[in-house]
Amino acid sequence: RYSRADIQRQRQALPAYKVREQFLKVVRENQVVVVIGETGSGKTTQLPQFLYGEGYKERGLIGITQPRRVAAVSVAQRVSEEMNVKLGEEVGFSIRFEDRSSSKTRIKFMTDGILLRETLQDEDLDKYSCIIMDEAHERSLNTDILIGLFKKLLARRRDLKLIVTSATLNADKFSSFFGNAEQFIIPGRTYPVDIMFSSVPVMDYVEEAVKQVLRVHLSAENKGDILVFMTGQEDIEVTCSQIEEELDNLRKLDETIKPLQVLPIYSTLPADLQARIFERSEYRKCIVATNIAETSLTVDGIGFVIDTGLMKLKVYNARLSMESLQITPISLAQANQRAGRAGRTGPGTCYRLYTLTAAQTEMLPEPIPEIQRTNLENTILLLKSLKVKDLSRFPFLDRPSIESISTAQYQLWSEGALDNFGDLTLLGERMSRFPIEPTLSKFLILSTLDRFHCSKEVVTIVAMLSIPPIFVRPNNDMGLQKKSDSSREKFQVAESDHLTLLNIYDQFMSHGRNEKWCQHNFLQHKSLRRASEIREQLVQIMKNNKLDLTVQDCEDWNLIRECVCAAFFLNGASFKKYGQYQHLRSGLEMALHPTSALYGMGDLPKYVVYHEVILSGRVQHMNYVSTVKGEWLIEYGGVFYSKRVRGVSSKEHQ
Ligand code: ADP
Ligand code: MG
Repeated sequence: RYSRADIQRQRQALPAYKVREQFLKVVRENQVVVVIGETGSGKTTQLPQFLYGEGYKERGLIGITQPRRVAAVSVAQRVSEEMNVKLGEEVGFSIRFEDRSSSKTRIKFMTDGILLRETLQDEDLDKYSCIIMDEAHERSLNTDILIGLFKKLLARRRDLKLIVTSATLNADKFSSFFGNAEQFIIPGRTYPVDIMFSSVPVMDYVEEAVKQVLRVHLSAENKGDILVFMTGQEDIEVTCSQIEEELDNLRKLDETIKPLQVLPIYSTLPADLQARIFERSEYRKCIVATNIAETSLTVDGIGFVIDTGLMKLKVYNARLSMESLQITPISLAQANQRAGRAGRTGPGTCYRLYTLTAAQTEMLPEPIPEIQRTNLENTILLLKSLKVKDLSRFPFLDRPSIESISTAQYQLWSEGALDNFGDLTLLGERMSRFPIEPTLSKFLILSTLDRFHCSKEVVTIVAMLSIPPIFVRPNNDMGLQKKSDSSREKFQVAESDHLTLLNIYDQFMSHGRNEKWCQHNFLQHKSLRRASEIREQLVQIMKNNKLDLTVQDCEDWNLIRECVCAAFFLNGASFKKYGQYQHLRSGLEMALHPTSALYGMGDLPKYVVYHEVILSGRVQHMNYVSTVKGEWLIEYGGVFYSKRVRGVSSKEHQ
């Protein structure tokens, strides 16, 4: 751990620290300031403290938004340490389903999604004196919408200060959006970074990254920690264990080889494990990260960056109205940002696991803002409840395509959230109250109807669908993998993954939330505990909105499946051939996910509905599937299905 004196010394060495007075002056004289500074210059950790010291805390909260949950938590922790206060008191954070702030809180870190939801309760954000929209260059959907809302809000609240922080990229765009807002540049210092491209295309980026890590580590003169940019959790876990395994073997042969502290970091990693990347280590560190480490989190002392050139990106196909995570090339701007991580404390080296030609031909200059590649249902629902009537007049920083707006509106109309005039229905109004995706909130609301009367169970399923995967599947050990698979099978309810989730949760509760029991059954104890916290919060929101929670257990679980169908009918699919289904509306082929309860069943049902689609390689997998009856699809899907489900193929129908 670091001592208090260490922390103060680190603070004072930050570029932001040196320009404190100038910064405060610019904020005093302007309502909106765009702050530009290198990653690691102290924007996120220092600016809020400057405002705090200057007395803004007396006028209201100092709020800082982050596009990523990980960053909100980690930075709040750091700032509370720097200020020597308890986290949750003067310095707190709030992310979805987890609020660590109190009446004492003056500096509040939160995700941009949380602030956006707060505008539903308090249109003018009266309790804030300053808002820092951090990492605005990331152009997350929620940040973009907030920026649009601020345009009017700032005119209503002349006393509110808005500070937008951005990497150089996009800074001018923000300035001109707010009528040539003042820019404040934090002068930074960076060291040169040598960039090495791969000379041939890389076949297996995990394998190549592992090799490169070892090459760097074994060349004795190389000082500095290593940062690897990987795609996502799975790849990160495999990379980490392969590095450890291969280094172990090498060290058996040569005892002079030093150990390496291998540390993963991704958004769903538990907070205590995340914090380890900042801790001091006796040995060289090798951090294997998602693009979290591009700008949100800065680790000092990185001398080597190994860049796969890839990231996982949520991609939305408006034509099929389908969202999926895909591994895609990063943009050139991101590649430079990644390389820059090696030159913060001294000259560094960046190894790119792609060729120069690939960079020139396959990478876009800049990333596409999320608003132009995502499902807008949630956003539109929210804007409608904020009484934004005409979306074509909303001040978007970058406009989403007409197609994606109309698809989302159509989708919301199909779900009964909008009426024929495009206004919110009562159902839509209620749906917007829940901080979850629209179909899930609809699922919850439907379950309270007399017809289904199973909200007690459905709220559990919704909570279980909102947590990271619950099954532990050891990476390296075939024997343990088998055991974990057969443990999963024990919980399966043959006709439905939704009911399987319910079953697991019920058993978890009846075993007194016991951690040993979870370990024994290869279940993530932390995730299940999280599900029960989320469940409580959902129950609270239901109460606040006068939605009844059933008291008695639902006797007939078929009713729950029928309710799944009523909520997810747009995700209906029909049996094609073994293991293969066909999405009813688009005709697209989809496979059962290998972890599904239906996978490996003798007779597969004719119709199913699914929760979401995951793309693995070229295959679309349906994730969380329930068996449904054709007549249910007709009943709840109405105009969408009556013909198709009765046997007219989708081809003829087009
Ligand atoms: P910026 O927002 O400009 O990118 P930050 O304010 O996040 O910069 O970081 C400033 C410095 O504080 C960096 O050197 C970083 O390493 C350090 N820092 C940030 N968070 C932590 C933490 N949780 N633990 C230790 N050091 C941290
Ligand atoms: Mg920052």
